[in-house]
Amino acid sequence: MDIPRIFNISESAHRIHNPLTAEKMAALGTALRMEKNTSVLDLGCGSGEMLCTWARDHGIRGTGVDLSSLFSAQAKQRAVELGVASQVEFIHGEAAGYVAAERVDVAACVGATWIGGGLQGTIELLKKSVRPGGMLLIGEPYWRVMPTSQYEARGCLANAIEDFLTLPSLLKLFAKLGFDTVEMMLADQDSWDRYEAARWFTMRRWLDENPDDEMAGEVREELYTEPERYVTYRRELLGWGTFALKAR
Ligand code: SAH
Repeated sequence: MDIPRIFNISESAHRIHNPLTAEKMAALGTALRMEKNTSVLDLGCGSGEMLCTWARDHGIRGTGVDLSSLFSAQAKQRAVELGVASQVEFIHGEAAGYVAAERVDVAACVGATWIGGGLQGTIELLKKSVRPGGMLLIGEPYWRVMPTSQYEARGCLANAIEDFLTLPSLLKLFAKLGFDTVEMMLADQDSWDRYEAARWFTMRRWLDENPDDEMAGEVREELYTEPERYVTYRRELLGWGTFALKAR
C-alpha cells in the first residue's frame, strides 16, 4: 500500500510537499491563533511538517494520515527530532473515508483533496471529524491566470480548465457551501519554486546514485521535461493556497 514510487523518489527530500515555504507554514500557524492542546487531524499529511512544527511552536496535538510509507516514516522521525513525539501520531494508511474517533478542533487536508474525490467531497469528509465550531483547513490550487486552452491546463497537471477555480470563485464557493473563510496563506512564485525546483535536484541526485534502477528512465525523462513545463505553465498560471474555514 503506497503512492506511486515517482513521488517517493522526487519528493524524498521535501519536508513540506506543497508550495508553501517553512516560513509561510509558520506564519499560518501563528495566524490561526491555536491554543495549547488544540487537536488537529491532517489527512494526506505527507512528512508531517505542519503537525510537528505547530506542535513545537503552539503545543497542538495532532494525528496525521498518509499513504506514503516513506513520508510516514519521515514524519515519525521528525516528531522525535523536534521533541513532540508524545503530541503527534502518524498513521500510515488510506485517508479516503478516514474519520477521527473523537471530533477535533481543526480538520485539515492540505494539497490532497483527491482523497475525498475533489474539493467538495473532501470538505464533506473533514466535516465528519471536526467539532461544532471547529475549523477546516484546505490546501488547494486555483487559477492565478486563466489558461486559454485545455492544452495549457494540462501543462499545469490539471485534466481540464474546469478542475480548478479562480481565487475569487474559490472563496465564493466556500461561502456558498456555508463557510466563512477566516484566514488564508497563499503561495507565490518563489515559494512554488521551493516545492518544484527542489524536486529537480532530488531527482538528479537520485539518478546519479541509482543509474540502473528500473525507474531511472522515467525519472530521467521527468527531469528532462519538467523544468521547462513548470516555468511555462504552472509557475505562470497556477496559484495555490491554504484556506481556513468555519461553518456559519
Ligand atoms: N499535506 C502534506 C502533503 C501534501 S502532498 C504537505 O502539505 O506537506 C499529498 C500527500 O497525499 C502525499 O503525502 C501523499 O503521500 C498523500 N496521499 C496521496 N493519496 C493518499 C491517500 N489516498 N490517502 C492518504 N494519503 C494520500
